[in-house]
Amino acid sequence: MVRKIAILLLLLAVGYVVWVVALNLPGSHERAPREAAAPSAGGGRQPSMATGSLRPRGPLGVQGPLVIPVAGVRADQLSDTFDDARGEGRVHDAIDILAPRGTPVIAAAAGTVEKLFDSRLGGRTIYVRRTGGQWIDYYAHLDSYVPGLAEGNRVAQGQVIGTVGSTGDASPEAPHLHYAINAMAPGEGWWQGEAVNPYPLLKRR
Ligand SMILES: [Zn+2]
Repeated sequence: MVRKIAILLLLLAVGYVVWVVALNLPGSHERAPREAAAPSAGGGRQPSMATGSLRPRGPLGVQGPLVIPVAGVRADQLSDTFDDARGEGRVHDAIDILAPRGTPVIAAAAGTVEKLFDSRLGGRTIYVRRTGGQWIDYYAHLDSYVPGLAEGNRVAQGQVIGTVGSTGDASPEAPHLHYAINAMAPGEGWWQGEAVNPYPLLKRR
């Protein structure tokens, strides 16, 4: 009896060791989660579990290409600052487009002004929800809004909506537009969404 129990325990121990070794082989437990996590549009930023699969992946809600949202700036003058570190563990999640203070800011895509907001980091900002509702264009550090701009206004692609400035945490010596594109899951508000890189979308014109 004691001998049978000892053999049983030995078999259990051997089984456990085999199991642990198998789990640690490369390609078993490591590969599965990586394959399950498909790369997101943000290049490694993972969508939240609850809403990730509901975010738009395809059409941007615009007919044709986006307009570069600062007047007079050409595609070859843009630089990709999407992944730049911004302190406190944050990444940039936007593109900065340098231009003299007062340069017109124009709508990259048509939509509806959802929010005009003053924030510590962004300064004077505009959130425009594109036609169809699945994308929000975010414009920050504005010096001013175009006179009369109000929440609920429809804006056409290419329409002037404000001017470049340095409000918020932007340097007064380097006025620029901070421009972000957010993919919105159904029901998400202007303060939510998942950033996608505007750079390749603005270059592809
Ligand atoms: Zn920025």
